Amino acid sequence: MPEFFNVRSPSQAFDDLRPHIFAISERETIPTTSALGRVIADQIRSPEDLPSFPKSSMDGFSVRARDTFGASETLPAMMEVVADIPTGAESDVELSVGEAAVAYTGGMLAGNADAVVMIERTQPADDTSIEILRPVAPGENVVNEGEDVRAGDLLFSPSHAIRPQDIGGLLALGITEIEVLRRPRVAIVSTGDELVPPDVSPPPGKIRDINTYTVAARVAQCGAEPVVIGLAPDEYEPQLQAARRGIQSADALVFSAGSSLSTRDMTADVFNQLGNPGVLLHGISIKPGKPTIVAVADGKPLFGLPGNPVSALVVFDLLVAPTIRLLSGASSPPTTNTVEAILTADIPSESGREDYVPVTLSKSDGQARATPVFGKSNLIYTLVNSHGLIQVPADSGGLYAGERVSVNLY
Ligand code: AMP
Ligand code: MG
Repeated sequence: MPEFFNVRSPSQAFDDLRPHIFAISERETIPTTSALGRVIADQIRSPEDLPSFPKSSMDGFSVRARDTFGASETLPAMMEVVADIPTGAESDVELSVGEAAVAYTGGMLAGNADAVVMIERTQPADDTSIEILRPVAPGENVVNEGEDVRAGDLLFSPSHAIRPQDIGGLLALGITEIEVLRRPRVAIVSTGDELVPPDVSPPPGKIRDINTYTVAARVAQCGAEPVVIGLAPDEYEPQLQAARRGIQSADALVFSAGSSLSTRDMTADVFNQLGNPGVLLHGISIKPGKPTIVAVADGKPLFGLPGNPVSALVVFDLLVAPTIRLLSGASSPPTTNTVEAILTADIPSESGREDYVPVTLSKSDGQARATPVFGKSNLIYTLVNSHGLIQVPADSGGLYAGERVSVNLY
């Protein structure tokens, strides 16, 4: 029986692959409203001032600040209310000395007004006038024209990945379309004579294919486009054909299963046929997930993930997810979603390999606690019934109950 020699750690494996990965350069123009997560292709400058008119940031009265100077509770400033300027309306009133206009949050100021007195700092004097109980400084409770951004300001640099607030910032300026990089496409092939599609009732000995769909879902979650090629039996020719279709239609290829060392495992042979340099490494020092293949065919990264559905997802996160990020051209750091917790049970581990153990999270005495979900590592419900994974580092013989751990949430 052959063995895995010279296995690399997951991070070494990624370091080996990284020089072969290049960001996608093709662009497309899309509506800003559907740009969440997309990567900006060119810098974007503001076409106009925001806000485009000075507006009130409070409900109250717009005034000439100097008319309020010296006002106090004992000696209020009397002001004549000459207008009411509703939100959304254009103001055509000019204030003279001692005059005020009713102002609403987000509404225009009256002409000549340079400040807003909060309604709480006033009291009615009679039907048409108010008393101001405290002075306001010029600019107080006012958002000036261009205070948010100015025409010509740099809004976004290339490689920025669009967040919800960015969509708002662009739309506020009337930028309803933007140029972005094309999303990476990742082709997925699931191999194995035992697989049937999930809508088929499997005869004895067969199982439903789930990796196609868990991997496709993770690809989509990473902001890329899954391209499902389908099932291939444990035979060389059909696998080679499926792989060729995959790399023709995508920027990266993921093969599920067949990555081990038996005579029925031919992913490595298939990958070596697809282009240069072929297989970079076979086997990584990790549990679960050791039988992993990383390859490159003429500039396209190829991954042979273990068939075990848990291993497939663990390895996906360590190697495929960061590859998608590089392909996407995004510059911002990946959002790491981790929670610190106290481990509730010992986790034994072999030194020399990284272990990934699913845990459930709970809270007691105000402290997050992580409880390992033990069980054979190939059972998908160990992932379904857990909240995240903890890593047992390669140089440790295990983790002990009471230790502080960092849980990577799904
Ligand atoms: P392999 O990597 O081919 O040795 O497969 C390891 C385990 O994962 C075996 O129990 C397979 O039946 C199972 N497996 C392989 N591919 C899939 C798949 N697409 N969906 C669910 N389980 C799979
Ligand atoms: Mg197999």
